[in-house]
Amino acid sequence: MRKNIVAGNWKMNKTLQEGTELAKELQAALNGKAVKCDVIICTPFIHLASISQIIDTKTVKLGAQNSADKVSGAYTGEVSAAMVASTGAQYVILGHSERRAYYGETNAILKEKVKLALENNLTPIFCIGEVLAEREAGKQDQVVKTQIEESLFDLSAEDFGKIVLAYEPVWAIGTGKTATAAQAQEMHAFIRQTLAGKYGAAVANETSILYGGSANAGNAKELFANPDVDGGLIGGAALKVDTFLPIIEAF
Ligand code: PEP
Repeated sequence: MRKNIVAGNWKMNKTLQEGTELAKELQAALNGKAVKCDVIICTPFIHLASISQIIDTKTVKLGAQNSADKVSGAYTGEVSAAMVASTGAQYVILGHSERRAYYGETNAILKEKVKLALENNLTPIFCIGEVLAEREAGKQDQVVKTQIEESLFDLSAEDFGKIVLAYEPVWAIGTGKTATAAQAQEMHAFIRQTLAGKYGAAVANETSILYGGSANAGNAKELFANPDVDGGLIGGAALKVDTFLPIIEAF
């Protein structure tokens, strides 16, 4: 179901103690507040079990930043979707551009990860987006379409309906360079049209599509005001309540 969502991606930041402190602070800041979006924090794996005991999932939901493309077994260092789910987490970021760029995650690998996440009742927050050279060559639509087609379009309409998408132009992540509200809207509308072409307008209209890339308190309102932007995936600004809360309150 289409929802407004603000999701924090902590990346590889915060010790367990710092992370539990931040989760407690965020929970306290949201207690008794009427917010108009779902709030999710996507933490490092080792924080999940502890933080799931701290948060009230009615106000703060929990996700991982990755899960394996294999069910279980001799894959040293990997963490399976079943393991993530067993901590109480409900979401998992998949296909983040940092995973694609630094850890060789291809559309084919991501297809397996999505399938296993869904089998374990995790909601994938599936990231797509072009690098700067692709945008400068005018290829952003094709790049994003191919990422969606190759990783997601084997899913049934029912399963696709469980996915959250995050459009993250790679040139805007952690760079302080945000896509303009018009660039975000243009791409989100294109993504929705692509989904409609495969699954029909009803499924496309029910899909939450988040924007990610240097979103902050100063630009969130304008970005979220777009008809096809249903919220944000937030990196740097999610690491402090002071910077994350105003983004949540932009709805
Ligand atoms: C991200 O990591 O998904 C992200 C959008 O990061 P930042 O907000 O720091 O650009």
